[in-house]
Amino acid sequence: MRESIPVQVSPEAEPNDGRKELLNRAVYCAFDFDPRTHKFLGLCIGGYDKGESQEYATFNNDCRHSLKGILLASNLGLGLDNVVIISPRENLTSEKIKEKLLFIKDRIREEPLIAFFLIIIGHQPMDMPTGNHLFRVGDNSYVEMNDVKEIVNELNYCPLIYTIKDMCSAARFNLLPDSDSVGNSDKIRVQWSSCQEGGKSYRSPVIDGRLFSQCLAMGIARSDRCFARSDQCPNNETNCNICYVYQRLSSGKPSYRLLQYFIYEHMLSITGVENNVDLPVLEINGENFFPDNYTGINVDLDCLR
Ligand SMILES: [Zn+2]
Repeated sequence: MRESIPVQVSPEAEPNDGRKELLNRAVYCAFDFDPRTHKFLGLCIGGYDKGESQEYATFNNDCRHSLKGILLASNLGLGLDNVVIISPRENLTSEKIKEKLLFIKDRIREEPLIAFFLIIIGHQPMDMPTGNHLFRVGDNSYVEMNDVKEIVNELNYCPLIYTIKDMCSAARFNLLPDSDSVGNSDKIRVQWSSCQEGGKSYRSPVIDGRLFSQCLAMGIARSDRCFARSDQCPNNETNCNICYVYQRLSSGKPSYRLLQYFIYEHMLSITGVENNVDLPVLEINGENFFPDNYTGINVDLDCLR
């Protein structure tokens, strides 16, 4: 007898048809995007830790590795000329970072973008008495979150804004434009947060990288939307049931619900992720898809094989 994965299924697990279509389109628009033909900008920010504790010994490389994983899975790697990377490896002072972000802000005023991608992976930004938040990228260097937010707000007009945040308390930091009316327009706003406010971001215990971003990158990389396809398992298992179900049910184009299954189940099967608050939240055009409604996928492995 092979093992089956028992999961309860409730009717609200699957959004109705209209929403389902938007959901699937929105989740994958960054990955269907062709950076060679569309004017876009990617801003990738990788975090820093002194690496003194065991949990964070490889933090800087893990963040960088996960940024790279998402870039490759999303095809944005094909248009690297339009991707700005700020991480410990660039070794920039806070002043230089500020200049760089101001330059971006000026540039997008002169040349409107079709799409903007923001990927930020690291420790959660520190609260400052001024109300600003500082994201650490070096011993003494920081990205001011207000500067990033100003860029995003400048892009109110932009048809596609896609943000991915992997950090503790990720959902606390809204990195979409503040006063954005999406309404019935064709604008798409996507915001992945690795966890809810108060939640924790984890390191992958088996591969170099942060757990959520690796699961997201690998889930996408398995689909036929990815230029650089891979069949790696986030848990580094050769006969992983989660990967098997995903592959069998997705036929190369996984729905959001399947991708969610792939990400959540891999994260949950790793020791440490115990609470819903530590699971990712996806926001699409103002609507949030929380882990609280996640009910898994009812599947009998025997029937699939
Ligand atoms: Zn797997």
